[in-house]
Amino acid sequence: MTIFLVDVDGVCADFTGAAISMIRKCPGYENFENVDGSWHFIPEDTVLTKHLWGNLDARSLKPFEGDQEAIARLQERGRVLFVTAPAPRWTWMPERVEWLTQRYNVSAKDVIFAHGAEKQFVYGDYLIEDNAGNLDLWLQHWGLGEGYLIDRSYNRKFNVGMRKSSLLEAVEDICDKMG
Ligand SMILES: [Mg+2]
Repeated sequence: MTIFLVDVDGVCADFTGAAISMIRKCPGYENFENVDGSWHFIPEDTVLTKHLWGNLDARSLKPFEGDQEAIARLQERGRVLFVTAPAPRWTWMPERVEWLTQRYNVSAKDVIFAHGAEKQFVYGDYLIEDNAGNLDLWLQHWGLGEGYLIDRSYNRKFNVGMRKSSLLEAVEDICDKMG
């Protein structure tokens, strides 16, 4: 059976958008912008991080367009497992499971929590990711796996995997190849 590993933040759900909105609700950060579009855009500030992780509910994230169609199409061809990082928020994991199980036809058993670099220890035939470093590690570990990098401002300088503009575009490519 083909195993599709799908990252959540930056692939299915707009983590960056939700995080920036929440940062702007913190006094002193009302006009916050992720100016250089970098991956590490959350300022190191104890007050801010306490505000952010105290309030950013994983269920509040907006999905990217075409996500449900993409996941359904993969499920016709194999097992879809979401591989997603915990966050420094103790309710993040159950919130994430709720978001995923309500949005897609999956159960809690289809959700694997692994911090970024540790995703390399999860086996699959495919990994769809937005973090170039995580994808690179995974590809090095599972040399025969296929990696798809979802195009985001923070990963443009990396050349790893097959770059696609959206999850749905990556899935269309996978389906074409699988025939
Ligand atoms: Mg991600």
